[in-house]
Amino acid sequence: MPSGRTHDRLTWIGMPLVGFTASALTRDWRWGVIASSSFGIGGFLLSPDLDTPLSLPYYRWGWLRGIWLPYQKTFSHRSFWTHGPMVGTTIRLLYLSLWLGLGLGFVAGVASCTGQLPLIQEWLRRWQGINWRWGVAIALGLELSALLHVTSDFVVSQWRRWRR
Ligand SMILES: [Zn+2]
Repeated sequence: MPSGRTHDRLTWIGMPLVGFTASALTRDWRWGVIASSSFGIGGFLLSPDLDTPLSLPYYRWGWLRGIWLPYQKTFSHRSFWTHGPMVGTTIRLLYLSLWLGLGLGFVAGVASCTGQLPLIQEWLRRWQGINWRWGVAIALGLELSALLHVTSDFVVSQWRRWRR
């Protein structure tokens, strides 16, 4: 499998390509920015290699990286559930939203104790008004970077086998 640095390099190369392609296809540079930044987030922070403690994306989560420990315990490294096309990204997003839900619940609990709940409700209401197409563009960017990751994992391991 390629090293974390190789995955990082490929992500850096892919970001402008994805950005230009998305801008050209939609004739709107904003879609390019959304697609290329979610591609970058997918490569640097939400990579399929979050399934191992020996990965750069895992360390990039800093003090929050503990949230990925149950994920690593549940799925073995390079299994279908973390590296499978579509499946990997979907599971990671669901897993992350579980933690987001927990975090939001905690914040809401603190807010209701301190009488700040209307502030949270206002914030949630704003999120409802968000363009759903953004979500699709973000999901596509994340999935593209996961596909690049899986492909480079496959190509490098085949090449190593062939060289032996
Ligand atoms: Zn991998």
